[in-house]
This record gives sequence, C-alpha cells and structure tokens, in this order.
Amino acid sequence: MKLILIGIQGSGKGTQAKLLSERFKIPHLSVGEILREEVARKTHLGEKISSIIDKGELVPDDLTVGIVETEIQGKVGFILDGFPRNLNQARKLDEFVKIDHVIHITLTDEEARRRIGGRLECTKCGMIYSLNFYKKDSCEKCGGALKRRDDDNDAAVEKRIRTFHESTKPLIEFYRQKGILREIDGAQPIEKVLSDIEKALR
Ligand code: AMP
Repeated sequence: MKLILIGIQGSGKGTQAKLLSERFKIPHLSVGEILREEVARKTHLGEKISSIIDKGELVPDDLTVGIVETEIQGKVGFILDGFPRNLNQARKLDEFVKIDHVIHITLTDEEARRRIGGRLECTKCGMIYSLNFYKKDSCEKCGGALKRRDDDNDAAVEKRIRTFHESTKPLIEFYRQKGILREIDGAQPIEKVLSDIEKALR
C-alpha cells in the first residue's frame, strides 16, 4: 500500500504515520524528520536548510522530491508524511510512483496552534508527545530526551499554517479528482482517528 497523509501541523500525521507503519508493516517516511536529521548532524545540506526550516518555510522542491524518489525506490509500500506539500511536488511524485490512498487529517487552525504549543518530540526516535498528557521528560519507547522542535516557535507556526492553506490545500482537490482522497476528523482521540483511517483504507 502506497499512502500519503496530508494535514495541517499538529493534525497528528506523524503520530498516525508511526502507528500505521507498525500496523501495516510498511515504512514511514517523514521528509521533515530526514531534514531535521541533516540539520542535527550539521551536514552541508543541513547547514543550508536549517534557517529555512526554523522560519517555517518550505525547502526547495528539487531537494525534497530527490529525497523521496531515493527513499521509496524499490519499496512495495510506504507512508509519506508531510510530502507532497504543494502541487509541483505532487505532479513530480506522479511521474515515478502510483499512490493508492491519500488521507487528509482535518483540524482547525486554532486547535493546531494549541497542540503545537504543547508538543514535545523524542530526539532519538521522533515519537511525539503532548505536554498536556505526558509528564515525564524522556521517551517511553526508547528513553531518548524530549524537546520542543526548533521550528515550533510562534512565528514559524504561523508561517507553516499560512503555507498549508496556500500551498498544501490545493492538493486536496488534486487527489479528490483522482478519486483516492479520504478526509478524517483529526480532532478525535488518537485511537479513533487510527480506526477511522483503517476503515477508509479497506
Ligand atoms: P514536518 O516535520 O513535516 O512538520 O516538516 C518540518 C519542516 O521541514 C517544514 O516546515 C519544512 O521546512 C520542511 N519540509 C518538510 N517536508 C517538506 C516538503 N515536502 N517540502 C518542503 N519542505 C518540507
């Protein structure tokens, strides 16, 4: 199964992608995580893109398309989380792979802001936690330290929300017209969102 998850920041794409990856035994591919790793390792690429990411802007399409093309090569199934993020990326993706399902996890801007305000991420495995529900300072899965993402600051969050409406939302119509789009209410509890996605994939 070749699956794309679309959603505004904080909609739970990353969390659902990890759960679906375990459930269906297919790899979870988060372009954002790959890019953040480059920044953390201070590679040449990482140094070039770190200020773009911290401002909440999109890194150039040729770069993300190249990463995805390499990562999915030879894979029979995968979950793309956070890619594509604009029509150009979606059209490029169409040139090298046929996507089976696109799930749009919906959430209001207000709820997205509230969730990102309380979001912590494991620096080792990328597991996502909410300050509202999780009170420990290390990851329950791998013991890694938890921290706020550098791009979860107010200015970058607003920029990412604007970018979602301007650049990513047109994808919803693009995939609806192909007949492969399903919309799931992301304001529900994690388990309910997961079961709704599973139903939509059947
Ligand atoms: P995410 O982890 O999906 O929230 O992505 C974090 C950041 O990585 C984004 O704000 C962008 O700066 C960059 N990024 C992730 N995916 C893409 C993409 N498909 N196209 C361009 N930039 C991306």
